[in-house]
Amino acid sequence: MSGRGLGGWTLMGIPCQTIKAVQERSGGVCELCHSRPATQVHHAKTKGMGGSTRVYTAEMLEDLCLKCHAAGHGYTVLLENDY
Ligand SMILES: [Zn+2]
Ligand SMILES: [Zn+2]
Repeated sequence: MSGRGLGGWTLMGIPCQTIKAVQERSGGVCELCHSRPATQVHHAKTKGMGGSTRVYTAEMLEDLCLKCHAAGHGYTVLLENDY
């Protein structure tokens, strides 16, 4: 993955800077099991925060492997557009 020339994209409303911060924090390893490559950025805290403004910070996100991400949503299979 090239880190060059990123022009301010967002992932479902999450700024690229935030995504990058999470990925740098995890080092590309799942932050839950620490044994598999992280491939999914998951927002861990979305409800119960109050207010309607969606502001995602790196602290609210987790870099997870496919399996842990699916488990976090209570699934065994991850839907492509679910994050
Ligand atoms: Zn994992
Ligand atoms: Zn998720």
